[in-house]
Amino acid sequence: MKKQGTICVQGGYQPESGAPRQIPIIQSTTYPYATAEEMGKLFDLETEGYFYTRLQNPTNDAVARKICELEGGTAAMLTSAGQAATFLALFNLCSCGDHIVSSSAIYGGSYNLIAVTMKRMGIESTFVEPDCTDEELAAAFRPNTKCVFGETIANPALAVLDIQRFAEAAHAHGVPLIVDNTFATPINCRPIQWGADIVTHSTTKYMDGHAAAVGGAIVDSGNFDWMAHKDKFPGLTTPDESYHGVVYAERFGNGGAFITKATAQLMRDLGCTPAPMNSFLLNLGLESLHVRVPRHCENALAVAQYLQDHPKVAWVNYPSLPGNPYYALAQKYLPHGSCGVVSFGLKGGRESAARFMEKLHVASIATHVADAHSCVLHPAGTTHRQMTDAELAHAGVGPDLVRLSVGIEDIDDILADIAQALEQA
Ligand SMILES: *Cc1c(COP(=O)(O)O)cnc(C)c1O
Repeated sequence: MKKQGTICVQGGYQPESGAPRQIPIIQSTTYPYATAEEMGKLFDLETEGYFYTRLQNPTNDAVARKICELEGGTAAMLTSAGQAATFLALFNLCSCGDHIVSSSAIYGGSYNLIAVTMKRMGIESTFVEPDCTDEELAAAFRPNTKCVFGETIANPALAVLDIQRFAEAAHAHGVPLIVDNTFATPINCRPIQWGADIVTHSTTKYMDGHAAAVGGAIVDSGNFDWMAHKDKFPGLTTPDESYHGVVYAERFGNGGAFITKATAQLMRDLGCTPAPMNSFLLNLGLESLHVRVPRHCENALAVAQYLQDHPKVAWVNYPSLPGNPYYALAQKYLPHGSCGVVSFGLKGGRESAARFMEKLHVASIATHVADAHSCVLHPAGTTHRQMTDAELAHAGVGPDLVRLSVGIEDIDDILADIAQALEQA
């Protein structure tokens, strides 16, 4: 098997002699055929091919193949945003009346999706702390539970998921584990190796890496045996009448059933397809992912160490920093580095945090994380500004919390910028 660096550059697309070196942008909605019968076979999923870009597009597929290889999966698809990837992965398994077990340390958008929007669809959920006991985890399952969800490194809490433990609990209850691997990327962790069945991404973050295009991805490990849990997953194991009675798990096997169903059924009906141009941009980002991610981690560790020793800093949260509550899990799952995001608090509280941010020159104030440019966010003053200090404390986002997404600028300039801003805070 090829190494990650080679897959980043060359995976998913091997041009034939004289073909374009770079993945072509197939900017076309449709694909004509000589006979109606030829096209009919595509509609019946009897042969492979393209007929309408809402379902599949060659540019999108080439980039999906690269991400599939990076994660060590059997099939993958791209979506128009990370939110769509999370929703499709969950909704491919759950219907009205079903139940999801999720880690409570997840991205705010994923929490809203599960706790509010999917609840309105009749899908219930139970949230567990990522460091709950085995007994608490087991107690969260119900007979109608269809999957377990968590994040390798939670955004923004920076909690590290014990993937192996969550996978074992999921499998003991006959359901798959879905892991959002956005912050770690397959450069730092491949959740499938630790037992995750489905991996999702917001490619908007490190994979794109340049703040250029919103996108998402879903990768199937091919390891979950749907037919062994036939009654739990009728969508995969019984005929899909909206697709001429195809039984996905029978026709496409464990390696292909999940992504084929999500494409043929959910993409068909929901249309959250990425633009081919965005997939092209995503691929440019992927070509340097293995070079950028280690630099993000190196810079972030240096920033975390600097902050930890600074007299004006009250606390620092970075999983790769010795003494962090998640240090041991980070060493296990992320031995080469965790991510570029560091959160910390200033002794001067809310006012100092705001002043510190205003004085930064290298890092800009932005509601974004995980791209080449350093950026900083004060949740209490922006994304969470409607909350009282007590509500903020309960949400684990204290009024003094600053979230710094460390970019890949020169570390000397990043540290000098932080030093002068702290001086004035
Ligand atoms: C940003 C993010 C998402 C949502 O992705 P979008 O591309 O913004 O829709 C999901 N999960 C994690 C961990 C994220 O950071």
